[in-house]
Amino acid sequence: MYVAGQLAAGIAHEIRNPLTSLKGFLQLLSSGRKNNGTYYDIMKSELTRIENIVSEMLMLSKPQVYELSYHDTRHVMRETVTLLETQAILHSIQIESDFGPDPLWIYGVESQIKQVFINVIKNAIEAMTDGGAIRVHMKRVDNSVRIRIMDEGPGIEDSQLAKMGQPFYTTKDKGTGLGLMVSYKIVDNHQGKIQVYSQLGSGTTFEILLPFRYPDTTPVKTG
Ligand code: ADP
Ligand code: MG
Repeated sequence: MYVAGQLAAGIAHEIRNPLTSLKGFLQLLSSGRKNNGTYYDIMKSELTRIENIVSEMLMLSKPQVYELSYHDTRHVMRETVTLLETQAILHSIQIESDFGPDPLWIYGVESQIKQVFINVIKNAIEAMTDGGAIRVHMKRVDNSVRIRIMDEGPGIEDSQLAKMGQPFYTTKDKGTGLGLMVSYKIVDNHQGKIQVYSQLGSGTTFEILLPFRYPDTTPVKTG
């Protein structure tokens, strides 16, 4: 409850800022002030911001029907990469995949795992303003499926690393700072781990470990 309350306060705050500015612009417009379109642009982007915050919160709070089943994470990742490829190409970014020949089974909720992959790869794309390559490596390591997403972005300072995944921590104009928090929570629910390695000036690697679960073994409860 305490965490929920903190989160609610955070969300309220994050939504109030764009609301205040929307109200201000409406007042300007209704007072008959001339507007060359910039007001509308700003208002649209403020509304988009609220929309993004609300959708990401829904992800967390909606009582979803979680369908746990076995998935080859290579398949989930292939779909994710296809989904994000257009956006990558627009930013002069190539996504290079190396998944190996064997199925990488996990037991979990496909849409959630996909959400994690999307969040991390999107962040990589957004970090690489000068283009380059994102490398996605997946392999089995002992009893885990190891997924590495390596970018050639500017990297993250040590002092910032600790803040990643905290709600509303963002360095982007239009960021929500919720993507990683949601991702950490999902991976945690799947008994996995996320680690971040970063080198200023050369890039960042997100490493996701999920328990390998062969479809024949007895299901283990998650969530
Ligand atoms: P958002 O993308 O909305 O800002 P996230 O929770 O996805 O929120 O990410 C939080 C912050 O972590 C980002 O604003 C950015 O500063 C930092 N970050 C995440 N991924 C990367 C990355 N691959 N390279 C550099 N910084 C990153
Ligand atoms: Mg993000």
